[in-house]
Amino acid sequence: MRFAKLVDYLAKLEATTKRLEMTHILADLFKEASEEDIAPIIYLTQERLGPAFAPIDFGIGEALAAEALAKASGKDKDAIKKLYKQHGDYGLVAEKLISDDAKKLTVAQVFERLKQIATTSGEGTVATKTDLLAELLGKVSGREARYVLRIPLGRLRLGIGDPTVMEGLSWSKTGDKTLRPQIERAYNVCSDLGKVAHIFKTEGVDALAKISVAVGNPVRMALAERAKNAEDIVTRLGKCAIESKFDGFRCQVHKQGASVRIFSRNLEETTAMFTDIAEGIRTQIRAQTAILEGEALSYDPETDEFHPFQVTMQRKRKYDLEEMTVKFPLRLVAFDLLYLDGKDLTGEGYAARHATLAQLIAPGERVQIAQHLVTQDAKEIEKYFMQAITGGLEGIMAKRLDSRYQAGARNFNWIKLKRSYQGHLSDTVDGVVVGYLRGRGMRARFGIGALLVAVYDAKQDKFATIAKIGTGFSDAEWLQMRELLDPIKTEHRHARVDAVLAPDVWVEPRYVIEMQADEITRSPIHTAGKIGDEPGYALRFPRVKGFIRADKKPEDATTVGEILKMFEKQGKAMRNDK
Ligand code: AMP
Repeated sequence: MRFAKLVDYLAKLEATTKRLEMTHILADLFKEASEEDIAPIIYLTQERLGPAFAPIDFGIGEALAAEALAKASGKDKDAIKKLYKQHGDYGLVAEKLISDDAKKLTVAQVFERLKQIATTSGEGTVATKTDLLAELLGKVSGREARYVLRIPLGRLRLGIGDPTVMEGLSWSKTGDKTLRPQIERAYNVCSDLGKVAHIFKTEGVDALAKISVAVGNPVRMALAERAKNAEDIVTRLGKCAIESKFDGFRCQVHKQGASVRIFSRNLEETTAMFTDIAEGIRTQIRAQTAILEGEALSYDPETDEFHPFQVTMQRKRKYDLEEMTVKFPLRLVAFDLLYLDGKDLTGEGYAARHATLAQLIAPGERVQIAQHLVTQDAKEIEKYFMQAITGGLEGIMAKRLDSRYQAGARNFNWIKLKRSYQGHLSDTVDGVVVGYLRGRGMRARFGIGALLVAVYDAKQDKFATIAKIGTGFSDAEWLQMRELLDPIKTEHRHARVDAVLAPDVWVEPRYVIEMQADEITRSPIHTAGKIGDEPGYALRFPRVKGFIRADKKPEDATTVGEILKMFEKQGKAMRNDK
């Protein structure tokens, strides 16, 4: 496919905010794409050069883009900066400056060139990257240049999430969304939409079934639903396994001989950060190949007690790694086993997987099994819960004994029961920042005083607002927040955002924050859960806990569905109190 053709589609996608329309446009694009082009097209529309778990950083910032543009267009840098001030987007500047002569690069050629730029390293990298980008810009038309720059700069802003791509793929073959479950299963197992799309296109939907769990390829993680209390757990699961809920980093560990790779909850590779866990896996796991999951927590080797999350958090950084490993050593509390010596275990029951895992771990400091209690007695569960809380833990996890590992799914196979604070919702809500209001009073000098925050509407693949939040940050954090948000400002409401309120500044939905609130109320000014003229749902007295949840993607935010359940549960709890 010619890159110019892909650009036609990107322009069409840009012109709509309706999800169904986007799905149809994507379906046409996927239909027209050749077998070779489908994966690169999917990566490019998501502003990437590969799957999210193996990111190839473009390494193209605005300064480099400006320099390359100067070279390609023969204009001086000041003129370019001036144009940028006017348009606020290097894509548009490029379109203005580069001639519109017909050019003939293909999608594959542009993709390869961007990859070449991204992987350039060593001495003189910046100069080489600039030259290569300038050369690429010289080979495309103005309209194409707009996207050649927007993609690496992360400014495409099409609002296409994974669900929309998956539905587009289904539509491309059947004209409806009936194939989405098979596509989604394959994606959940391999976490690579490009790969899934390629197999789907070349071999058909049935071939997707052969995608299975593989070492080195992170599996999208299973997630938990909530319970109100111990009885609720017993009603749903009957006899089940109760474990402590540890508050650290979810780790999915892939072991292949001496090579160990670790992936975070959002499938980013964290191997370099957690060298002590990797070492523990090498020395304590009695298996050649394995994929296991657990929670990594910092602990005090003197007392053998776990530290609170704030301390464990210190390990989430990219510098002083060795010092951190000594100061805050980590332990992996392992709770699940997905794969062992050539065998995919995800189809087996939880109890069997856990028992095999326990056998696999040699005694040692770094890796330990998550102990559990098998019971169907609500009183016993309650006791376990109280012990966990007293021990400074977050609560408990109940697991259905015969449940298979359901990649990427949140359901009642795992149920979390978290500590509740009186007068607070028993759970925190993870929201996505979609805009901010300029401060009044004291905060006016920061130019930011409150955030407009949304939750994820998984059905619509949109973000619907739930709170305006101005409490919980320190002055320094407000300033930091503004520094983070300004580069992702958008002129209008982002295509994936649903809102009644208009903040002073809209931003791209990218950052997730954790909020505590007193309760959920109905509100006409928020769109979470809003249907027709009915009011939506809002958080009462919301306050931020901590800072940005770097471990969560916007789609990992609390969903509208979860908010509705929390609202329902709250209603019942209130009625019980009376
Ligand atoms: P939440 O992030 O509140 O939805 O809770 C789910 C998270 O709890 C998982 O992603 C894990 O990181 C963490 N977790 C802590 N202890 C356990 C456990 N025993 N089993 C499963 N997940 C656990």
